[in-house]
Amino acid sequence: MDFEKLKKFIKNNDIPSYRINQIRDAIYKQGITNWDDIKQLPANLRKELAVKQPILSVFMSKIQQSKRDKIIKALLTLKDGYKIETVLIKPYDSWSVCVSTQVGCQIGCTFCQTGHMGFKRDLTAEEISDQVLFWQGYLRSKKIDERISSVVYMGMGEPLLNYDEVVKSIKTLSDTDFLNIGQRHISISTSGIADKIKKLATDLPQVKLALSLHYTDDKLRSKIMPINRKFNLQSLQLALEDYIARTNRQVFIEYILIQGVNDSTKDFRKLVKWIEGIRGNYLLHVNVIPANQTKKLNNKITNAEVDDFVKSLKKANISASARKSLGADINAACGQLATK
Ligand code: SAH
Ligand code: SF4
Repeated sequence: MDFEKLKKFIKNNDIPSYRINQIRDAIYKQGITNWDDIKQLPANLRKELAVKQPILSVFMSKIQQSKRDKIIKALLTLKDGYKIETVLIKPYDSWSVCVSTQVGCQIGCTFCQTGHMGFKRDLTAEEISDQVLFWQGYLRSKKIDERISSVVYMGMGEPLLNYDEVVKSIKTLSDTDFLNIGQRHISISTSGIADKIKKLATDLPQVKLALSLHYTDDKLRSKIMPINRKFNLQSLQLALEDYIARTNRQVFIEYILIQGVNDSTKDFRKLVKWIEGIRGNYLLHVNVIPANQTKKLNNKITNAEVDDFVKSLKKANISASARKSLGADINAACGQLATK
């Protein structure tokens, strides 16, 4: 929904301006995503708007629900025919949405399904925030009168390589006139675009930052996450130091545990050393995640091994927890979305 465009349309067509507030309320407060359901509007206006100003810039192609977890994945089609994925999750007692920021991804991490798709294009701010509007409309269609209260930028794509549109979409999502999702309830996950991490600290200091670290050896990380050739482990330490100094906020370090690759005692010690090398590291929290099986990744890590890794980190005075990989049965673990 490009609300500015809609406002112009209302003005240029001599439609009374009080309609703007009615429409804003219907879409953002009531979760209506279909013009025909905004009954306060005259029927002819509803019809005209449906043709000239569709509410959503994304269209549902397919919905898949996990049997195990409260997690639903949608395949959405964009105006130019590209497809993206988005996930609705209720991990505890509130709804969260995982959004994509690009069609594909240019980073190409070898363990990631999106990385294997190649890169097609950036999403616009409208296409990003509309994924949340889409799910709010979905909840309404299921007669669930609950609001989406958090958003994670962990779907397809590298958010910090589509920086301007991502920032714009967060401003829309958090606007009190629109969905009013507080910036403290919005998280961005990045593979480590060091210069943009610094910029984020100034532009959106309230947003939660997660760094997908996964490897603490430059040679190995560069092989598996090619972005490391541009921004290596030391540059990430400096970027986090700078980020923490400016924001004084907790930062999450994502560490997917892969058997025989990054789970040895030596790997553990390197991780501790890397963290200890960051000024302000008491604000870091490590999420240890069992890697999800993909075509290229045969991982046999057990939950007990993940728990042990977490225990060891805690013993080393590092804040850490094990994170479950939700939705593995529909391939919806946020962040490894890719169309089949
Ligand atoms: N590009 C950003 C955000 C999208 S990926 C980033 O890389 O952070 C979101 C998360 O999913 C990242 O932490 C990524 O490393 C993780 N991920 C990708 N493939 C995975 C897999 N096979 N198993 C577990 N996590 C995976
Ligand atoms: Fe891109 Fe993130 Fe996947 Fe790496 S893990 S390929 S950065 S989406």
